[in-house]
Amino acid sequence: TNDGSVTAESVPSLMKHMPLCMNRLMHGVMSDHHLKYQGRQQLSLFLKGIGLSAEEALRFWQMQFTSGPGSMSIERFNKEYKYTFRHNYGLEGGRINYKPWDCRTILSKPRPSKNEYHGCPYRDLHRDQLADQLQKMGLDQGARLDDVLELSDRGEYQVACTKVFELVHREKISALLKNGDTVDETSITHPNLYYSRSLYLESK
Ligand code: SF4
Repeated sequence: TNDGSVTAESVPSLMKHMPLCMNRLMHGVMSDHHLKYQGRQQLSLFLKGIGLSAEEALRFWQMQFTSGPGSMSIERFNKEYKYTFRHNYGLEGGRINYKPWDCRTILSKPRPSKNEYHGCPYRDLHRDQLADQLQKMGLDQGARLDDVLELSDRGEYQVACTKVFELVHREKISALLKNGDTVDETSITHPNLYYSRSLYLESK
């Protein structure tokens, strides 16, 4: 929804609701003050989907690209990048209202090379990197972690992502189920679904 509640400044605080693919892009842009093309597209359309307005999006990307050591000037940002972010909101060019990418679209794009962070980490990260990321999300070492790694080895990326969602939120989910509440247990097929499901659980 575009109710104005998501601002350039509040995006980082929402990372706890984002799936691993978007967390990886967020870390990438915050550390590099830049993202390459596919990463810009994947993250900016996702952020549009969580309610970041065109105006706030421009502020977000400008802030990320132009602050911090080694970052570019505002003039360069305006000259080279402003257009693409406006374009994603249908404010330039063909004025198409681009939709956030679902997992299938993300998986259909070229795989990330060095210094790129787009794609699906369950497919694109090496096993030990993935294990490391999962531990940072609060999954402890052991059977649960191994289950996820095995799913990703087998190419079941969305099942792995759904499993991670359930593990991260396991206490909340079991409390709700005990209460007789219904919990959506269908597979994650879209990063924005992961996000909205996480927000929903927080609101309960
Ligand atoms: Fe992102 Fe989908 Fe991969 Fe999950 S399965 S990390 S939502 S692309």
